[in-house]
Amino acid sequence: MAPIKPHWSQPSHPDIQDVIVNDAEFTTKSVSKIALPPFGLFAKLEFPPCTVAAEPTYATVQIGRDKHLDLNSDLLYINHSCEPSLIFDTANMVIIAGPKGLQPGDELTFFYPSTEWDMAQPFDCFCGAPTCRGRIAGARDMTRAQLDGMWLNGHIRELLEEREQAAAAAAASPAETTPAKQNGGTTAAATLTNGAGSPHTTKTAAAAPADDQTARALREALSHAEKAVEAARLALASYVAAVKPATVAGAQRRGPTSRELSGEMGGDTSV
Ligand SMILES: [Zn+2]
Repeated sequence: MAPIKPHWSQPSHPDIQDVIVNDAEFTTKSVSKIALPPFGLFAKLEFPPCTVAAEPTYATVQIGRDKHLDLNSDLLYINHSCEPSLIFDTANMVIIAGPKGLQPGDELTFFYPSTEWDMAQPFDCFCGAPTCRGRIAGARDMTRAQLDGMWLNGHIRELLEEREQAAAAAAASPAETTPAKQNGGTTAAATLTNGAGSPHTTKTAAAAPADDQTARALREALSHAEKAVEAARLALASYVAAVKPATVAGAQRRGPTSRELSGEMGGDTSV
């Protein structure tokens, strides 16, 4: 398995990105050539080189519920990390620095489930961050606890909300969807609804019935809070872009997970 063969002319982003290929380990990573304040603009996702992909692949980034983008550039070599240096903001079609800003030499990483709902090849993350989420999959297959505190795009937040509403609805009508426990045993359906080992439910969502007024009010409050956070983040981003870069300590990370190493890019290389 060799690193993916680029079909674009390299380097595609020579002013901001250094791509480092490690032939011995079949890995590729990239590091920043620039300094940015928190949430400062790193790159725009423009057409070209980006194109809308017919279907998701290891080389696409999800930008909407049913929309995927082929990056067609070295931006593909931005690996996953659980403490990423970058944010792919698909609503605004930009890549921005994370909350710690960016320093030259920092590895360029982002949190894959922040864009991907479904990932064909989940992998075990070895990013080494104290907050490492462990098994990385599409957001669909991760728990709320694993996604907690991470910046997530709007389409991912929407889909998560729907997932939880469906789980809550299932929990609210156990007679219809879940056979009662008998003889102390647990049926397969009960296991699914309880969220034990099921990627499509969470314990917190399953615990609150859909018709529970308090749960609904809290869910609504959370949704409002998330929108407020996003609005503040955008305001901050445009503010910091307009003022002098602040001095920002470099993020401490080691060994982010490469797409090739994880298998996320290790399959078909014939694109
Ligand atoms: Zn990790």
